[in-house]
Amino acid sequence: MSEHDALIAAATKVAKTLTQKFPISKSGRRLHSPSGKFFTGCNVENATYGLTLCAERVAIFKAISEGERRFDSIAVVTDTDALTPPCGACRQIIWEFCGDIPVVLANLKGKVEVLQMSQLFPKPFDSSNL
Ligand code: ZN
Repeated sequence: MSEHDALIAAATKVAKTLTQKFPISKSGRRLHSPSGKFFTGCNVENATYGLTLCAERVAIFKAISEGERRFDSIAVVTDTDALTPPCGACRQIIWEFCGDIPVVLANLKGKVEVLQMSQLFPKPFDSSNL
C-alpha cells in the first residue's frame, strides 16, 4: 500500500461520479495523517466554456476559502486510459498555493504515477518574480 493510497481513494470516489476530479490533502505534519483533511473538486463547466474552472483549482480554492493554507499533495484521478496531468493554469495555482508537492496521477484502472510539481512546472512564475 503506497503512501498515496488514501488520496487516490478520495479522488477515485469523486472520479466515479463526475467527469474529472481532483482532491488535495492537507496535513500539518505528514501526508495522509489521521488528522489530515481532504478537499475534492470537479470541473465546473458553463455555457461560455472559457470560464470553466478545472477540478484542481476548485479543490484548492475551496480549501483556501475554508482557511487551509498548507497542502501536502494533490491527486488527479480520471477515467481515461492515459494519465491526465494538470493544465497550465492549474499548474500555476498549484505552485503558488502548494509549492513543490507531489502530484499523484491515477486512473480508474489502477495506473499511478507520482511527479513533483517542480518536474511538471520547472520554471514557475511566482511572488519572487514581482
Ligand atoms: Zn486545469
